[in-house]
Amino acid sequence: MPAKKLYLDYAATSYVEKEVLDAMIPYFCDRFGNASSIHLWGQEAKGAIEDARATIAQFLKAKPDEIVFTSSGTESNNLALFGMMQREKERKHLIVSAIEHSSVLSPARQLEKRGFRVTYLPVDPFGKVNLAALEKEVQKDTFLVSIMHASNEVGTIQPLSEISQLLKKKSKEFGKKIYFHSDAVQTAPILPLDVDLLGVDLMSISSHKLYGPKGIGALFVRKQTPLSAILYGGHQERMLRASSVNVAGIVGFAAAASLTVQKQPLFAHQMQELRDFFHEELQKRVDGLILNGHPQDRLPHLLNLSVTCIEGESLILHLSQAGVAASTGSACSSHSLEPSHVLLAMGISHELAHGSVRFSLGRSVTKEALIEAAQIFASIVEKLREMSPLTGENHDL
Ligand SMILES: *Cc1c(COP(=O)(O)O)cnc(C)c1O
Repeated sequence: MPAKKLYLDYAATSYVEKEVLDAMIPYFCDRFGNASSIHLWGQEAKGAIEDARATIAQFLKAKPDEIVFTSSGTESNNLALFGMMQREKERKHLIVSAIEHSSVLSPARQLEKRGFRVTYLPVDPFGKVNLAALEKEVQKDTFLVSIMHASNEVGTIQPLSEISQLLKKKSKEFGKKIYFHSDAVQTAPILPLDVDLLGVDLMSISSHKLYGPKGIGALFVRKQTPLSAILYGGHQERMLRASSVNVAGIVGFAAAASLTVQKQPLFAHQMQELRDFFHEELQKRVDGLILNGHPQDRLPHLLNLSVTCIEGESLILHLSQAGVAASTGSACSSHSLEPSHVLLAMGISHELAHGSVRFSLGRSVTKEALIEAAQIFASIVEKLREMSPLTGENHDL
């Protein structure tokens, strides 16, 4: 395997920090109890889980009994959408943004097939949802609105507290509470989260995007939120998520969240500096780079560029062969040759959407590595452009 230093795909996943792994290890062979058992082994596991629940609650400025552990960000999103919409008897309207992660969009499409009304809210060319459009779409039958905190593809950050203000106003007008869910999987590693400031009723996060293990996530569920389960079986997680709980995973998730809080004040600033440095290094060497996403309101570690006259897929493959990890956007859609639904929703042409590449930085990235990556990038782009049928004279950029 190539060295970690040229891994620039932290939005897809991060490595597990050594101290996170150390915190997890006792829970495999020694403290292996089932947290639902009443004997000492079980109680030991339960204690660890409740400590972790308090840590995750603090991480989100929530209360411990508002945290439900799940197996992933994907499951948290599925639980939020299905668990809310299926429970409600009268209001059958769901609003999601057009640029959501597939783990929100696919459940929305499923709900549509099952007879719910779903609105896919458009975004502006920078990837922001339009508040006026949202206000128009919110109707008497609207039960849930799901808008991600920040885009995993272009990094644009949505104005969640303004959206929640708007929903509160509409709730008052209709005399019925409209619930608000947000997928904060990408913001959790880098921005401080506060469920009250953001005004959300439900919020999804995932451990492996913040230097914890894969296969563990959480859903914040504000008190009084009418959520029903989507998995049935035992009574775990206050009946909201049947399954023997993943004790080691949860312990690792909490350790990773604590470490994230410790690093947070400086981390965002460091990432932004490195990201902007990298952007400049790329621009020095390559013409025809177009920034996708909001110039300011954007995740500080994320850089999404369209490269004219190039196919993103082949660029990623060549970068990979040269030891650089990047992505065309979402790891989940990297195997399809469809252009990104996010870039298309932002009004970017098919051609530029096809030529997009996403770099996302993280804790082990250095300036030296970024210079090396920029050099590799430039030589590959030059080679690909020489071969490209898109580089014709009549080609309209
Ligand atoms: C990665 C990601 C998810 C899915 O989380 P998993 O834990 O990998 O299932 C959901 N939403 C966003 C924005 C993501 O980046």
